Amino acid sequence: MNAHPLVRTVTGDLPAAQLGRTDAHEHVFLASPQLAGEEFQDPSKAAEELHLVRASGIDAVVDLTTIGLGRRPADLAAVSAATGVHVVAATGYHRDAHYRGDHWVQRATREQLLRAVVADVRDGMDASDWTSPFRETSPARAGIIKAGASYQRISRGERLRLEVCVEAAVTTGVALAVHTEVGTAGPDVLDVAEAGGLPASRVLLAHLDRNPDVEAHADLVQRGAVLVYDTVGRIKYRPDSVLLDLCEQMLERGHGASIVLGTDVGRRSMLRSHGGGPGMDVLGREFLPRLRRRVGEHAVTRLLVDTPARFLALQGDAP
Ligand SMILES: [Zn+2]
Repeated sequence: MNAHPLVRTVTGDLPAAQLGRTDAHEHVFLASPQLAGEEFQDPSKAAEELHLVRASGIDAVVDLTTIGLGRRPADLAAVSAATGVHVVAATGYHRDAHYRGDHWVQRATREQLLRAVVADVRDGMDASDWTSPFRETSPARAGIIKAGASYQRISRGERLRLEVCVEAAVTTGVALAVHTEVGTAGPDVLDVAEAGGLPASRVLLAHLDRNPDVEAHADLVQRGAVLVYDTVGRIKYRPDSVLLDLCEQMLERGHGASIVLGTDVGRRSMLRSHGGGPGMDVLGREFLPRLRRRVGEHAVTRLLVDTPARFLALQGDAP
């Protein structure tokens, strides 16, 4: 661990201690064929949403939009600067369902997949989000790598891309986040990471709260993984009280250093700036006051500040 660890944000590398209260799974911009009609690409709406996030007491968001799903690097940096919300952006590749069969991501070689991810972290995200045949570097660098798995399994294509993302995480020193379907396949994801030389402690498993099983979660964190409970405010899945119970039980078991929080608003209809809900600010606005009443300020600070800062810190001498 570096004495003064840095976190890579879209506006530059920031001392981890300055990151502040962090929402660990968001999408500032997104467009996916899997979510047709739910894309959001408007920079002024994004700024409006981040202003609400800021007003709810959140200082930083981790944007887990992957390559080819509507990342807008220049707009992301501009919106972050305009709102004062730190943004850690992702590179990497989502699960199969988010890419059409003819998308280059589905056909690329291991080397091609790896080159794009490492370039996004080291040199700056591609300005066209790798849609143009001409590489054009933006000044905004990615600070986390994301991969995705299917329900209960990792497909062949997902395994290749996960292995690539693991290698890129080892090479660059940034952390890896992995989408799980309804919280499944976590142990398999950790097996792939470890086989590639990435310790489980550098892996963030997303959507584990879709399967609020304390014992299964305890097994994953005992292997070293960090879990993001990122369906806050998604009442169609379960009441938030279930998520509050889950946080409380994990804290009681001593796993406060392995849990972070987010809302993962991945649809336009979930954004207040587009007239929807619950909004990206639901975490600070509604959930955190309830969590504070349950577990106290100190525990909330661990999930919201300490663990994200530790996990997102660049490892080694990342350039
Ligand atoms: Zn997401």
